[in-house]
Amino acid sequence: MEIPDRQGNKHAQKRIILEFIMNHRSGFVNILGNPNVGKSTIMNALVGEKLSIITSKAQTTRHRIMGIVSGEDFQIVYSDTPGIVRPKYQLHQSMMNFVKTALTDADIIIYVTDVTEKKEDINDYTEKIKSSGIPVIVVINKVDLSNQTELEIIVQSWKDRFPGSPVIPVSALRNFNLDILLNAIISKLPEGEPYFPKDQLTDKYERFFASEIIREKIMVNYQKEVPYSAEVEIESYKEENDLLRIRAVIHVARDTQKGIIIGHKGSKLKKTGTQARHDMEEFFGRKVFLELYVKVTNDWRDKPQDLKRFGYR
Ligand code: GDP
Ligand code: MG
Repeated sequence: MEIPDRQGNKHAQKRIILEFIMNHRSGFVNILGNPNVGKSTIMNALVGEKLSIITSKAQTTRHRIMGIVSGEDFQIVYSDTPGIVRPKYQLHQSMMNFVKTALTDADIIIYVTDVTEKKEDINDYTEKIKSSGIPVIVVINKVDLSNQTELEIIVQSWKDRFPGSPVIPVSALRNFNLDILLNAIISKLPEGEPYFPKDQLTDKYERFFASEIIREKIMVNYQKEVPYSAEVEIESYKEENDLLRIRAVIHVARDTQKGIIIGHKGSKLKKTGTQARHDMEEFFGRKVFLELYVKVTNDWRDKPQDLKRFGYR
């Protein structure tokens, strides 16, 4: 039996470490697509945490939100983005900036469509994605709403649109084929060291998630223009032993919207607050004391100062 000398041993170890680094894959995977196709649902399912708020309304996601998934030999940094929108307010312009950056710094683009999208929903953005030269994986979501024959036609049309790119039908809601999607992503990841500590889940702070949870409840509880005119600001966020004390302001764009948010004798605001508190307790894993206020911040969606304060560029 050969006993390796000190030198040889060290050498071998070094090589193992080097091999480990060389075989490690990591990269930025950006999720793009039209509003409401299920981008946030897919990211949450892949990350295994509800980082991004989901509602049946378009334009629920306003910021770019990262979700990080690490394995022993890989790290995927997902970015969920606001849907591709035609700018109406300056807010939309900022939302599109998040989308544009997502196109420049991606190692892989996941372009999400769903079985209900029509030909005319597919905009020239797909051309921009194509000409970027970044590897694309096309995901056809919501296959639970389709059948085999219909699906085959849809898959073929996307294969024609993105020649050479994988086209993967999934149902994010039913957790169908997401393992295939994950494997496709890992196989396309470039080799490299991790960008973030392996136990980190996201780039955002607790405050952000607190405000997003409130915003989700606003999206759900109010109609028409009201949820789109509301923005949530966390005024204070304090940890007291096993209690979280959160004070939040709901900014609305017009006077009339304030009354709508509050509702008769405060009933609507109370409902929104109770639902938000419940979800926060689940998300943060502790008791939450939530105070909600409503404030009119005239036309904040078109005021650069306000947009900046709310975290838009
Ligand atoms: P986003 O705007 O692209 O981020 O879309 P969301 O993730 O917010 O989802 C929009 C809507 O589609 C929500 O009501 C989701 O519950 C729904 N949805 C997402 N994935 C699926 C799916 O696989 N099947 C079905 N039937 N609905 C889905
Ligand atoms: Mg979304």
